[in-house]
Formats: sequence, structure tokens, C-alpha cells
Amino acid sequence: MSNQRKRLPHEIDPFRLVESRSVLEGTIPLKQFKRLRPLLVDDTGTIAIVLNFDTDEFGVPFVSGRIETNLALVCQRCLERYDFPIEKDFSLAWIRAEKEAKTLPIRFEPYLVETNPLILNDVIEDELLLAMPQIPMHDRSECSASKWISDSDGKTDNSASEISADDEVKENPFSVLANLKRKD
Ligand SMILES: [Zn+2]
Repeated sequence: MSNQRKRLPHEIDPFRLVESRSVLEGTIPLKQFKRLRPLLVDDTGTIAIVLNFDTDEFGVPFVSGRIETNLALVCQRCLERYDFPIEKDFSLAWIRAEKEAKTLPIRFEPYLVETNPLILNDVIEDELLLAMPQIPMHDRSECSASKWISDSDGKTDNSASEISADDEVKENPFSVLANLKRKD
């Protein structure tokens, strides 16, 4: 049986795509992601996306997807560019009411379809934001600020927690990520 292979549309009806067992494939410019864009020092890249719509053996409508991109972030220690590659697989179950989430097989993340059709970019952007580091930072060996950091405590993650505490107080663009993560 051959699946329908299509380009990425702007809007999707996830349940129809499940019925037709569609495969969507393509790229989206990073510029188009309004929530992500302020976090990037360079937004000229694209994200590669493959989405397979199907039902599982219990009839759960889902999409299994893969996203691949490279995000140019700012290292929160040296404030220089920090390239963060993302290659992420995910499986979302399409649900119409929140209570359906309770009965889903554990391999699925629930995605509540509140309005249909959905804006595809919103679905992809959620996955992108979830894949991002809470605090983007070079490895110490690659960070130009590492020479200013005392190694006396011997803990490599110490500076990360200090910065995180500071950022909690100030207006923090990454708080949007924290909220997303808390939702799960
Ligand atoms: Zn750095």
C-alpha cells in the first residue's frame, strides 16, 4: 500500500491526514517561527520535516515525525554564538478532549486539537521549543568565557544553576520554554 506523499501545507486537518495515511515532507524557513525567532542570532536556516500520519493497533490517530535543523543560539556564559543541532523524533496522538490523554499508550505525547484545521507551523514550533536547551551554553572546553570561571568547586554544572537562578528574576526569553515543558 502506498502512502500519499505531499508537500507541507500551511494548515492541516490531522484526522483527515490520518484517514488517508498521508506523509508530509518538506522544509520551513526558521524565520517563520515567531516564538523561536527572538532566541536566534541567525534565522536564515531551515528546518527539515517528515510527518507520517497513521493509526496504531488500538485505533489511536497519531503522527510520528522527525525534525532536523541547526539553531544559532547565544551562549549564556560567553554571549557568543552557540550552534545547537536538533534531530528529534516525536510521536503525537491527536486527541479531541483532554480526558483522552489518560488512556493513551505511553509512547505518545497528547496533542489536543482545539481548532481544526491546525496551523502546521504551530505544531512544529512546539516541538522545536521543547527540543531546545533550557540554558544554551557551550561545553566548557569550547566556551571563550571558561577561563573566567573558577574550577575550585569541581562541579561542571555549577555555573549553569547560578545563571538559571539569575534569569528567573529578570525578563527571560527562555521562560516560554519552561512553561512549555511544565505543561507535559
Ligand atoms: Zn560560550
